[in-house]
Amino acid sequence: MSRETALAIAAAVNAGRSARVAVEAALAACEADQLNAVIRVHRTRALACADAVDAHIRSGARLPLAGVPIAVKDNMCIDGLPATCCSRMLEGYVAPYTATAVARLLEAGAIVVAQTNMDEFAFGSSNETSCYGPVKNPVDPSRIPGGSSGGSAAVVAAGYVPVSLGSDTGGSIRQPAGLCGCLGLKPTYGSVSRYGLIAFGSSLDQIGPFAANADDVAAVLAAMAGQDPLDATSAPRALSPATGEALRGARIGYVAAHAEGLQPAVRTALEATKARAQAAGATLVPVTLPHEKYAVATYYVIGTGEASSNLSRMDGIRFGHHAEAADLRQVYGKSRAEGFGAEAKRRIMLGTYVLSTGYYDAYYKKAQQVRRLICRDFEQAFASCDAILGPVSPTTAFKLGEKLSDPIQMYLSDIFTIATNLAGVPGLSFPTGRDDMGLPIGMQLQGPMFSDNKLLNMAKALG
Ligand code: GLN
Repeated sequence: MSRETALAIAAAVNAGRSARVAVEAALAACEADQLNAVIRVHRTRALACADAVDAHIRSGARLPLAGVPIAVKDNMCIDGLPATCCSRMLEGYVAPYTATAVARLLEAGAIVVAQTNMDEFAFGSSNETSCYGPVKNPVDPSRIPGGSSGGSAAVVAAGYVPVSLGSDTGGSIRQPAGLCGCLGLKPTYGSVSRYGLIAFGSSLDQIGPFAANADDVAAVLAAMAGQDPLDATSAPRALSPATGEALRGARIGYVAAHAEGLQPAVRTALEATKARAQAAGATLVPVTLPHEKYAVATYYVIGTGEASSNLSRMDGIRFGHHAEAADLRQVYGKSRAEGFGAEAKRRIMLGTYVLSTGYYDAYYKKAQQVRRLICRDFEQAFASCDAILGPVSPTTAFKLGEKLSDPIQMYLSDIFTIATNLAGVPGLSFPTGRDDMGLPIGMQLQGPMFSDNKLLNMAKALG
């Protein structure tokens, strides 16, 4: 992990240490990357930003993230930098504006040092669908780091940077955080602006931070959350502050069915974490999420439907890859056939099918009805508990290539993370232990809407 926390760096820079110190260290680590986690390093730009932060501090300003080096997933727009979603389809595309979440971190004094590898258009759980090739897990390079934000998890777990940004549509922050051994937060839907995040599933996507400790996650979240007039789905309500005791007197819910089918070490870690919660003064409360078993199926109807619609703008004319052909229709077809990878094509075909006339009611509308039931499950569960504790993934990191040819197996690795996005509630993945091969095990806390800071406080007391 990064030698210094984000908050320690900010304190030092606010006290007069040059922002170049931490930025140089992060740049050197990113340039020496052996994990294929980093796809672009921005040395000149980062050093210029460091000098600008130093000048700002000299003039008397104090910034919450002064001089904190960050890495950003390649699906967020940053003015003047490429944004490709690790797809050939967006080769050569340079963003003409900056995503609100990133812009707010820059205003708070953070400095973008690198952009990170990801599954193509965020479709995946292993970071193996990137056009730049797979990312390796920093703990064991023969294994996957998780996905789709695998690069962002790896750069934090490997200690290149104290903080990175990922996006989570069905688990893409929480699952790689768990498999690499750092924290990752999928914030409450609507709490962080999606403006400038290249959309996958607009009703599910959220940007969130990775870090090595809960205070850094909270600091980044505080800097980037809040309503944005540029995102109609951003919420007018602020995140609740974390007040009082994290666990003493808290009611921690658990779903008995979550303990089934887990790798034994993950199950042991789950039981140990529950025991720690109890020892810290929490009461364990059994809850049920009766419709959670339909979450993966529901997600692959809604998520692919939204993805096929969002990706229709990649037409070979306005952005990225363009193929020459005899007429307009053929330009569209050829550009998309050449530009998209196999998993992106699979999602587009599935999504187009479930949205098409005659199937819309049977699949898409039905999935929306099930989604409502899943939301209600969470509302009912949170009537009797303050948060739900459970596993992030059924297993620790699997081998590179192990599930690539079996999409169903790959889709099932998100079984515990997907309902969170369908319901919109926050989900936090935090490291709890290791299996007998030394591979990290993450646990998840899910809470009511806007309780993100409370979850972070609980994880601090549990970690
Ligand atoms: N693994 C899931 C998928 O492939 C989730 C991806 C994500 O959250 N972006 O759809």
